[in-house]
Amino acid sequence: MTLKYLPEPFRIKVVEPIRLIPFEERKKALQNSGYNIFALKAKHVFIDLLTDSGTGAMSSHQWAAIMEGDESYAGANSYLRLADAVEKVFGFHLFVPTHQGRASENILSAILVKPGDFVPSNMHFDTTDANIRARGGRPTNLVIDDAFDPKNHHPFKGNMDLAKLKAFILETGVEKIPLGMITVTNNAGGGQPVSMENIRAVADLYHSFGIPFYIDAARYAENCYFIKLREPGYQDKSTLEIAREMFSYANGFCMSAKKDAIVNIGGLLATKDDKTFQKIKNELILREGFPTYGGLAGRDLDALAVGLYEGLDEDYLQYRINQTAYLASRLMDAGIPIIEPPGGHAIFIDAGTLLPHIPHHEFPGQSLTNELYLAGGIRGCEIGSVMFAVPNPATGEIIYPKLEMVRLAIPRRVYTQSHFDYVADTIIEIAKKADTLRGYKITYAPELLRHFTARFEPL
Ligand SMILES: *Cc1c(COP(=O)(O)O)cnc(C)c1O
Repeated sequence: MTLKYLPEPFRIKVVEPIRLIPFEERKKALQNSGYNIFALKAKHVFIDLLTDSGTGAMSSHQWAAIMEGDESYAGANSYLRLADAVEKVFGFHLFVPTHQGRASENILSAILVKPGDFVPSNMHFDTTDANIRARGGRPTNLVIDDAFDPKNHHPFKGNMDLAKLKAFILETGVEKIPLGMITVTNNAGGGQPVSMENIRAVADLYHSFGIPFYIDAARYAENCYFIKLREPGYQDKSTLEIAREMFSYANGFCMSAKKDAIVNIGGLLATKDDKTFQKIKNELILREGFPTYGGLAGRDLDALAVGLYEGLDEDYLQYRINQTAYLASRLMDAGIPIIEPPGGHAIFIDAGTLLPHIPHHEFPGQSLTNELYLAGGIRGCEIGSVMFAVPNPATGEIIYPKLEMVRLAIPRRVYTQSHFDYVADTIIEIAKKADTLRGYKITYAPELLRHFTARFEPL
């Protein structure tokens, strides 16, 4: 018997109750939050698809490892076990733990980026973008154009545009590019994977100009699994072998361990360069902690050491990618516009297409996000003009992102197929009355990362 979707490859040992509060209470909660779902209380949310970051369910092996945590300040056994896993999975000896991905980005930006510098990538995630800007640098996105076409089924829509990258380096000058990056999978562009061929070519290009190459590795495992599924020559390789090859091309990586390493908190920053490592350690001690624990407890390091392998487990990855594909297929069958093909960790609804009557500056993604909460107690996240519209530094004119999306991120090993049927049914109901949804205006917003704390009013 061949099944299209295999059941979850785990059984449930501990449950956490969730509750759908009545409609009138959801309405009040949304109003009190300034129409920003980041300000909602989690207890007022039924299905929480705000993020797949730190929201995964740890395995019985990870919980067991937590009991082995060694809380020694320096040289703890937990650190040694993590170092062993980092070496085996990524092939890196020089690394530090950090409390999460953005701490790694902050340290990397602090030691490498000067005002006026540029940092190219396929697409920077919001925290990477902000950390580079916070040091006066200019993050630059050079993903292939196919990424912006929601119906284009390119197997590796996260790929860097090599011609654009080369032209960009020649135009900018290597002295203004202290590092080059690539994000796997491309979170900000729909969780789309990058091919090994592209990573190799990007590395070669950076290296031919003497530019160090760093991978933003939050979803290393899902990207490796897509390579195994889609890239010729990789079908018979294990995801671990694929990871080893991928990271062999990089001079370093920064990583949020809250994604594919399936821990609730943690990050890594690694390099192959001794001098850079010295600077990383100095900055780490100033901001995070001693180099053998970073911003974490010993037990966190142990959960992470186990999670780095579990993230690469191929039964788990098959279930994970299929779960995302299942929700996507239910929405596509109903004609809901989403980014196709679905990526690894999330479904991205094309709110701009679903709500053509709401212009960029009235935030169609915000409108759909809020309606999802009102209609079903479901928390998604706007990934559009609230998050990414920025003024052109020269003219002050607002530059809007190409796509107005709502992301439904899928926590790892947390929700079952029936939860996703409920999510799909709710979205299908909303789509039937899409023309009644209204836009929003911003009443407060900080300068950087405004989506977290902005407040809105319905129009
Ligand atoms: C989550 C994420 C980050 C930031 O990591 P945090 O752990 O949230 O600080 C950076 N890059 C990508 C691609 C991410 O998905």
